[in-house]
Amino acid sequence: MYIKKNMRFHLKKENFHKLNGLKMFYSLIVAILACILIIGTFSCLYLKKMQEVVKSDSINYLQEVSKQVNINVKNMITMNVSALETVNQIFQSQKYSTIEQVMEILVQEKKRWGFSQISIVDEQGKGCCNNGIETYIGLKDNLQKDIDTKEYSIFPVIHANGKSDIAFVCPIKELNIENKKFKMIIGTYDIENLNSILSLKAFEGNGYAHIINKDGTVMIRSNHPLAEQKGENLVRILSMQKIDKGNSIEQFVNDLRNNRTGFIGYTMNGIHKYMTYIPVEIQDWYLLSIVPAFVVDTKSNELFKMTALICFSVTFIFCIIFVIAWNLQLLNKKKLEQIAYEDDITDGKTQGWFEQNFQEILFNKLPHETYCMIYANVQKFKLINDREGRKGGDRLLREVNEALSSILMIGEIMCRLSADHFALLLKYNTEENLKDRLKKAQLYLNSIAVGANQKKLGVKMTFGVYIIKSPNLDLTTMLDRANIARINIIKSSGKDMVYRIYDDTMRYKMLREKELEEKMMEALDRKEFVVYLQPKVELTNETVIAAEALVRWKGEEGIIFPDEFIPLFEKNGFIAQLDLYVFEIVCCLLRKWIEEEKPIVTISVNLSKVNLEIPNFFQHYEAILKREKVPPEYIEFEFTETTVYDNTETLAETIDYIHSIGCVCSMDDFGSSYSSLNLLKDVDVDILKLDKAFFRETARLNHRDLDIVEGIVEMAKKIHLKTVAEGVEQAEQIEFLKKIKCDMVQGFYYAKPMPIENFETFILEYNKNK
Ligand code: C2E
Ligand code: CA
Ligand code: CA
Repeated sequence: MYIKKNMRFHLKKENFHKLNGLKMFYSLIVAILACILIIGTFSCLYLKKMQEVVKSDSINYLQEVSKQVNINVKNMITMNVSALETVNQIFQSQKYSTIEQVMEILVQEKKRWGFSQISIVDEQGKGCCNNGIETYIGLKDNLQKDIDTKEYSIFPVIHANGKSDIAFVCPIKELNIENKKFKMIIGTYDIENLNSILSLKAFEGNGYAHIINKDGTVMIRSNHPLAEQKGENLVRILSMQKIDKGNSIEQFVNDLRNNRTGFIGYTMNGIHKYMTYIPVEIQDWYLLSIVPAFVVDTKSNELFKMTALICFSVTFIFCIIFVIAWNLQLLNKKKLEQIAYEDDITDGKTQGWFEQNFQEILFNKLPHETYCMIYANVQKFKLINDREGRKGGDRLLREVNEALSSILMIGEIMCRLSADHFALLLKYNTEENLKDRLKKAQLYLNSIAVGANQKKLGVKMTFGVYIIKSPNLDLTTMLDRANIARINIIKSSGKDMVYRIYDDTMRYKMLREKELEEKMMEALDRKEFVVYLQPKVELTNETVIAAEALVRWKGEEGIIFPDEFIPLFEKNGFIAQLDLYVFEIVCCLLRKWIEEEKPIVTISVNLSKVNLEIPNFFQHYEAILKREKVPPEYIEFEFTETTVYDNTETLAETIDYIHSIGCVCSMDDFGSSYSSLNLLKDVDVDILKLDKAFFRETARLNHRDLDIVEGIVEMAKKIHLKTVAEGVEQAEQIEFLKKIKCDMVQGFYYAKPMPIENFETFILEYNKNK
């Protein structure tokens, strides 16, 4: 049932840690996801912007390329037109009379200008061609118009064999040969040549261009494989396709009409394309430059991929760094916890750890369970520490830790608070059970031995127990209460193991003591301590022959009796000052009595054992005695029986010294503890003061007590000690004491302790009648 170390702990605790760990893990995941989301969103926005920029760049580029193509087209046209004009001039400059001559010229000029064919055409449209074959060209309306307006024109020609050319037509001013009136020269130009101009080399061969006129009729069609091969009218063709968002056919048509350049995106046969259009500025021609979107998008796609890769890498690296930092922090926390929670000296736990856990145990306890907080302290640790050295002391603390943890059960914890102070949180059933368990720890402590010869140290612990009635109290309060109980341990409560259970009166007592302690110094200065005298009556003749000086504290709250403050002053050492003060008052009083020639009796003062711990304490007494010139026989010093145990030697020496200066010594409270008779061997007192317990109401009818009193008195007589019976209140007790020949009585029967002035009159009155 018992577990070995205090580390073993409630199972719920482990679950709690697991839960905590899980919580932390989830928050880590959430943090990482949040990072990815944030970086991802920014990356997407950035990429979108980037794509737009790249696209508009590409379109601008397409437009630039388009302009260049346009220039080339224009150049080609101007060149061909001026070639025909040159031919025309040749015909004007000389007179030709035969067709043959003309033909010769045509053959020559065809070669010279690179036309595929040159013809001259008469009014009826009959042509005379360079290869000599007469051809008939049905004049089209526009051709006729061109002839009439004497302007050159250009138009595509589709031959019967399907081959297409482009025809440049130039009007002839005047050429009449063989009765034929030739009206124009037509130079046809191989469309293949044009196609090479119209292909957009800049887009890796993927771009192409068409020439159309304003109403959309295709004038020159690119033979590029991706080009729109069918349909006479491109506007019509496009109006049947899917147009990009933001573009429209209406806009395109409008632009064509108004001579504006522009851009349109559309999808045809599943291929997304971008097209720019610019006026050629020849006739009503338009140059359409078209490039498939994938060509433009590849660039931005690559950029997109690159950026996405960078973003991904950054996120990945970021996550890795984040996880590493997180782990480092966890490790650090663990290390710090180890430092804060593990006690190097005992290998046990620290108060910090204890504080972290105790509340949870109390919170999770079953309703019927009660816990107690124990404050444990090693007795005389300082002594052992001084003797065994620091290392020995540390070893002892480790053993103590082990001893205490050996009694821990599941759901119980302990720690070292500081130095030799320990705290335990134990389950509490009955006082008996707790006592048994503490005894077990004490048994372990008894076995602690050190050094090569394994000398037993005889370690003793004191345990203060606070039974936890209100689990909501903080640790300090609980420990304080347990410690108050420990401080209030009654010395005689047990030999093997000492413990005490806290009750609220202890706390009130502590508070009261604190209050008195705060006031005592000032009270001494303000002479709040006053001396009362209690007469001692000689039984043979019933006269007051002595008195005991007993102190009272007359403060703001009234009279405080010595029982309330003497034990406290003995604890804090103030009693030494107070005893000397009382002695001084007594000496001054005796001096006054001497000077005023009043009746003088011996006055006894109490000397607390605390005085004996002060080196040469008695010289202060002697000095006062000498100063006041008090005859020493009027002074008696009372030592309580318990003083003898702790300081037999010093006490014996002090008594000898007191005797040497002529004062008397008495043994106070004689018979209150065990081996009273033995004491008399060691300390040479003159008077025995029988403890008032012998004359208590309960003891009054007890013959055994009376027999003891009789025995003591008898024995005292044998060794020539005088006897004083204290606390006598009844007449029959007086009779008994007289019978057994007790010397004196100090008791309420005769008088209670009284102020000095009262005593002065009391003694006069009392002794007057004797
Ligand atoms: P104590 O030295 O044994 O003093 C005798 C106590 O018994 C006094 O109590 C006294 O009032 C009380 N007493 C005397 N006759 C009777 C009686 O017939 N019946 C009862 N019930 N009590 C009687 P007090 O004055 O309260 O003093 C209590 C204790 O305080 C003293 O016990 C003494 O130990 C201590 N004390 C008093 N004054 C001083 C002092 O100046 N110095 C020191 N060190 N201790 C002092
Ligand atoms: Ca006394
Ligand atoms: Ca006494």
